Amino acid sequence: MDRRRFLKFSSAAAVTATLPHPGAIAAALASVSEPKSDIAAVTGEGDAVSLERAAVQELADALRGRLLLPGMEGYESARRVLNYSIDKHPALIAQCTGAADVQYAVDFARSHDLLLAVKCGGHSFSGKGTCDGGLMIDLSRLRGARVNPASRTAWVDGGSLLGQMDHETAAFGLVTTAGTVSHTGIGGLTLGGGYGRLGRRFGLTLDNVKGVEIVTADGQFRRADGEENPDLYWAVRGGGGNFGVVTSFEMQLHPFDRNVIAGRLVFPLPRARDVLEVYAEFTEDAPRELYADYMIVAPPGSDGVVVLSICYIGSQKDLGRVLDPLRKLGKPMVDDIKDMDYVTLQRSGDDDDPRTTGTYQKSGFIRGISPELAARAVDGFQADPNRLTLLYFQHCGGAISDVAPNATAFAHRAASHNMFCTITWPLEADAASHLQWLRSYWATLDPYTSGFYMNDIADEGQQVVNRNYGVNYERLVQVKNQYDPANLFRLNANVVPTA
Ligand code: FAD
Repeated sequence: MDRRRFLKFSSAAAVTATLPHPGAIAAALASVSEPKSDIAAVTGEGDAVSLERAAVQELADALRGRLLLPGMEGYESARRVLNYSIDKHPALIAQCTGAADVQYAVDFARSHDLLLAVKCGGHSFSGKGTCDGGLMIDLSRLRGARVNPASRTAWVDGGSLLGQMDHETAAFGLVTTAGTVSHTGIGGLTLGGGYGRLGRRFGLTLDNVKGVEIVTADGQFRRADGEENPDLYWAVRGGGGNFGVVTSFEMQLHPFDRNVIAGRLVFPLPRARDVLEVYAEFTEDAPRELYADYMIVAPPGSDGVVVLSICYIGSQKDLGRVLDPLRKLGKPMVDDIKDMDYVTLQRSGDDDDPRTTGTYQKSGFIRGISPELAARAVDGFQADPNRLTLLYFQHCGGAISDVAPNATAFAHRAASHNMFCTITWPLEADAASHLQWLRSYWATLDPYTSGFYMNDIADEGQQVVNRNYGVNYERLVQVKNQYDPANLFRLNANVVPTA
């Protein structure tokens, strides 16, 4: 059972564009309102701006990839992000095929003061990868991973999906931490954190980044690692997309037997509280080789069930002892824990389709699950026939907590779990009552949280975002001032420059 296993999510194919025919740009330009009229767009500050047709044509000619305008074939699917309740229309979409294309697109956005969005996997719940009226850099043509088995490293293109990295590295008996749904983008996930089944053993995905290649706001292509541009290297590991477009990540890999022990234990809803209390204790002392998530999931029309989702990469001989506390919970409704191929496990939550649902989520880090929190979380949980409701505790700690809060820009090292509640509803339905329920439920849980996962950002205000960067905020502002003083990269958990 994966994170959001029961949500309706699509495969990456759903956001893959079809090819426009030759001359489509000229035709699309010709069809933009009156002949010779400019193209309406918006600046980063939200002001209306006009783009000259000749300048847009020049950008289209410069790119090796495609430039899509509204009405062109491929535009509709390219503008979409995973959360279909976000329905935005960029003025232009640059489907970049490499760093050079990214440089052209960044230069164009900067020189026209355009609002700029960068989309990799499009998984941001709040739709940070798209925008209305600006330029979207779509990285879906920049995908692939190349492994160097000798150095146990991989170069992963900045638009790749997690499954592409897992597929390539596992073939060499190597791995690094990745999230639990294989069509999540490497870009957003890594720059903001990267929790996954192997994180307690190998750290966050960002802890495994040895270096990046990045196009910064001035259009320059830079390498950032421990030696070159070390401040930038520090900032991109936790500072999200604030500092430029990462065109390639160099990842540290680890030797790995791809056979893991994984599966679910499912219990009826009335067991929710005692299972959560046992889970709380169980995860507190768990070895690093064990990753265990707890969820209550209630699809429309069901009161819900309780699911423990396990992945174990330790020795087989210790398995019985490790899982013993969970076995003491008695016979579950479902027990499908077994030997599994890791890459298959990583894909196991991929196959639902989100195109008919909207999504909203609240989340926060916690440091342990007290009986009081367990009671509030379970007692306040409410299924609804017209939505899917999911309460989730994602297992953190282990190697993630070995790293000092200021060693990278990711400060939340002490969390035991990422707690979140996600709801999805049919797109045509009125979401107001669902949103209201989640906000008031979350108000009862929020006092137990200590910061939140920036990759789960919803509608938090700027002050909350600033505070959430914790001890790293001041240094992030300095790096932002240096590399993006005009805040070109603002559609993210934004670090607002002060320069
Ligand atoms: P996008 O929406 O494409 O981008 C998100 C942000 O990153 C945007 O601000 C974008 O501009 C920026 N960005 C993306 N790529 C680049 C790049 N190459 N250079 C610069 N900026 C870039 N998180 C976990 O840690 N573990 C999980 O197991 C996990 N599971 C998830 C499962 C699902 C189904 C979903 C929807 C989310 C999950 N998440 C998980 C959260 C996930 O980390 C974030 O949603 C993340 O932002 C997704 O990255 P993306 O590239 O797909 O998103």
